[in-house]
Order: sequence, then structure tokens, then C-alpha cells
Amino acid sequence: MRKFVVVTGGVISGLGKGVVAASIGLLFKLSGYRVTLQKIDPYVNLDAGTMNPYEHGEVFVTADGKETDLDIGRYERFLNESLSAANYITTGQVYWNVIRQERAGAFLGKTVQVIPHITNEIKRLINLPIEREEAEIGVIEVGGTVGDIESLPFLEALRQLKDELPREDTFFIHVTLLPYLKGTDEIKTKPTQHSVKELRAIGLQPDAIIARCDRPLPPAVKQKIALFCDVTTENIIDDPELPSIYEAPSMLKSQGLDRRIAEGLNLSAREAAIGQWEGLVERIRTPSRRVRIGIVGKYVELKDAYMSITSALLHAGAALDTHVDLEWISAARLTAEECADGGSEAPLSELDGLLIPGGFGDRGIEGKVRAVKYARTMGIPFFGICLGLQCAVIEFARARLGLIAANSAEFDPHTPDPVIGLLENQRTIVEKGGTMRLGGYEAILREGTISRSCYSAERVMERHRHRYEFNPAYRQRFERAGMSVAATSPDDSLVEIVELKDHPWFVVVQFHPEFQSRFLSPHPLFRGFVKACLDHESSLPSS
Ligand code: GLN
Repeated sequence: MRKFVVVTGGVISGLGKGVVAASIGLLFKLSGYRVTLQKIDPYVNLDAGTMNPYEHGEVFVTADGKETDLDIGRYERFLNESLSAANYITTGQVYWNVIRQERAGAFLGKTVQVIPHITNEIKRLINLPIEREEAEIGVIEVGGTVGDIESLPFLEALRQLKDELPREDTFFIHVTLLPYLKGTDEIKTKPTQHSVKELRAIGLQPDAIIARCDRPLPPAVKQKIALFCDVTTENIIDDPELPSIYEAPSMLKSQGLDRRIAEGLNLSAREAAIGQWEGLVERIRTPSRRVRIGIVGKYVELKDAYMSITSALLHAGAALDTHVDLEWISAARLTAEECADGGSEAPLSELDGLLIPGGFGDRGIEGKVRAVKYARTMGIPFFGICLGLQCAVIEFARARLGLIAANSAEFDPHTPDPVIGLLENQRTIVEKGGTMRLGGYEAILREGTISRSCYSAERVMERHRHRYEFNPAYRQRFERAGMSVAATSPDDSLVEIVELKDHPWFVVVQFHPEFQSRFLSPHPLFRGFVKACLDHESSLPSS
């Protein structure tokens, strides 16, 4: 059995197609089906790795080392499964594959064209994850909005796929926006009608419409959409704003979307076992405790740039029945005059914990170093991730080893003390795309460390995305001064975790634990960190 659910979007982008796709995947998985999720991104980049987070939000990394759109991260967090490079397709990837075949002579004598060569390659890539994972249902999200020039070859490939398969093997869902006009107190359906018309012009008829609206849809509105868009009224689904995206599966289930899809795909009706999921959602709604955690970053204006981090904190919080209040602190602001004078630490006070996430380039580095110092000297729980580790190492070298000009070779190539240096195998690399240390690597945890007790394991696999690392030439000096190596690569050459001895909870990691946190299984280090923040909070005198 091989069935496809295709999710397209209309009217505007940013309507939450990814959440809809992930929710459908989850509901079918919890109904006992083997499911896979795939994202199609119609941009020409080969992967998301070379894009600024301001353009598309966070770059996610799969276990097999592909730099993808953040939707893949959301799929993993919902499905509680690791996906791979095959679950993510871009226009760049499709053309790259076809052009390489053309150069190899695979089409000798032929004119290589969008139809059939590009569309055939798209269909091959669409089938790949479902074949590899022996999935029964593949949920495919088409990025962008119907009507975009870029997505046409993908929609054409999906049209062909639909025609090649029996009717009951594909189900098309269109996610649209219904604007509400206050003056006339009306919900307007016209943009949705136009968007469906666009879809039909390219040979696709939606089987269901998910309508984003800031208020519930009255039956008359649903009937109108049904009539104009040729979709049964029961298959017009409300999609209200939700306090948390983790409420979406239950919201869609309560309207029978999973049943409607099962009917369309001629699958027997099964009840999704969503109890554990809903239990956690309930904890998000009514948490018993709160903590306040500061995130010192470079892209704080765009929260999507840190989506896996905020998700991991939320997962850990839900597991501990705790709401995590986030305080966004611009690293550049922390280097501003009034802070640099050693005056006000205002943005950092009243925090129960501090986290420095990954990043690139030297903007805001001194602010991050200053934040590390604050957490280290004030005994505030501190979690450094990737660049966060590097800043912690720089701060410690300057303050405790007396290496006042210590830096990373990334930010100061002429520093006398490059405590963070380029990875050995990065030295000859010049191309930027897909050339960092990427994907899952094993780390060995030392006994008696905070990390080891969080994981309750000696060996772990964690995902990486960096070019620089802790310089091993300085290892012993750090150890002697109280900053110790808590995990290394199996051959002991690369430092993966560093901890401070005289501090309640100071853990910094070279990898990205946030990529492996899921709603149903929070990451052990995030759990440990939020727990330490709770302990810190309860140790403060109550005001
Ligand atoms: N810029 C640093 C490096 O390349 C850190 C990367 C990151 O935080 N992901 O090593």
C-alpha cells in the first residue's frame, strides 16, 4: 500500500501548512500507519544551508547531514522520528540531479525538458522516502503559494502522479486564508475561490480545504466555499489561531479531518491514540511552575531563527510541568556603551537561566562573552550551544587563564591565543555549501559529569553544524583551571562538551541538541537545564 496526502497553500504564505502536514502525519502514525513526511521547497538553492536565517528562519540539520528548511525539524518533533535528506526536495536538487545525468550522457540524443525530465525526477524523489522507509502514507507539503512560477513543475509532477495512481491513492488538501472585514461583518471567500481556480487550472482539484480565519466559520460560509470550489461541506475545515501548534492535531481530529482523509484514501477508520500527546498539551495550557530563561542571540528579532531551541525548551518545560518564559536579548545590545562600562546588567538580571545558541560571524560576540561572564560569576544555570560553547571557552580563557586576547580564529584570525580553531579537515575547504561538519556524530561522555547524569548513557549521537572547535592545545590548561571536558569524539580528538566545576549548572556543547528534542521525548540536556533553572528559581528569596 502506498498513499499520498498532498498539502498545498493558497492566498498568502505563512499559513501554517507545515503544522497541518505534521499534524496529519502524527494522526495517521498514532492510528497505527507507517507514515513519512516530505517538504518540497521550490527555491533554487541546493539546500537551506547558505541562506540567512532572516530569509527562511532556522537551518535544520538531519542525522545524515543535510541542511534543510525548518519544517523538517517540525516534522521530526511531531512524528518523534528522525527523517533524512530524502525528506526534503528543492528545485536546486532536482535540476542538479538532472543536469548531472545529462552530463553523464543519460539522455543522449534527447532535448532535456521540464516535462518529462524534470517532472520525472520530481516523481522519483517524491517516491524515495516512502520506498526507503516502507511507509504506507507519504504526506507531502509543497512550499510557497499556488500561482508561484517556481512551484509549477512540482504541481505538474503531482498532477501526473495523481493520474498515474488509482483515484483512492491521493488526497489533496489546500490551506487558505479567509479574511474578515469588520465594516460589513463578513468573512470573504473570494481569495480562496481564486486560489482554488489557480489549482484547477493546473489540473489539481482539492479534496479538502483548511481555512485559516480569525473566527469560526459559519455553516453558510462553508457551504459557499464548498459550492464554488467543488469540495464537500464536511471537507471544509476550520483552522483558527491556536495558543500552541501542538494543539493542532486535536483541533483537526475533532473536526474529523483524519476520518475524511481515510475515507478519501479508502482506508479503514482507525482511532488515533492521542492521549499522551493531549496530556502534554494540557500541561502547556495549565503549568504549575514558571521559569525565566534569557536567550542571547544575533537574530532575536526573528524568533523562527531559533525554532528548534524554543521548541526544545517548551518540550522540557511541558515534561516538568513548567512554563518557560523567554527573554530575548540582542547580543549586539549587550555590547552597547552602557553595558560595556560595567554598568547596568539589566537585561540579564531576574533570569533563572541563560542560553547562548549557535551563530556565525563576529557581530555581537563580545556581548555574548559578557553574558557568559555574568552567568559564570553569578552562578546562574548556563547552557551554551555550538557558538555558545565557543564564547564560553573564550570568556574563561580571558578571565581565568589570563589570555586576555584569546579568541576564535573565526572572529580574529591573528589572535595570539586561538582557543577556538578551525577543524583540521576544514583547512583546505573553500566552497561554502554543505561543507561544514554536518550531521550525527558519536560522543563519549565522561563519568561524574552533569551531562552523563542527564543522558544516563555513556555514548550518544548528536548533530553538528560548525567549522571551528575547541583547540586541543589548550585542553590541559582549561582542565587545571576548573573548566573540564565532559565529552569527546570516540578517538578523543574533538571536544564535544565542556562543563564548569564550581558552578550549579554550566554545560556547553559543540553540537546542536535542540535538533533531537521532540514533544513526546524532550532532550535530556534541555530537561536538565530547565530543571536547574527551576532549582535556581526556588533558591531565590521570594519577594
Ligand atoms: N560559527 C561557529 C563555527 O562555525 C559556530 C557555528 C554554530 O554555532 N552553528 O564553528
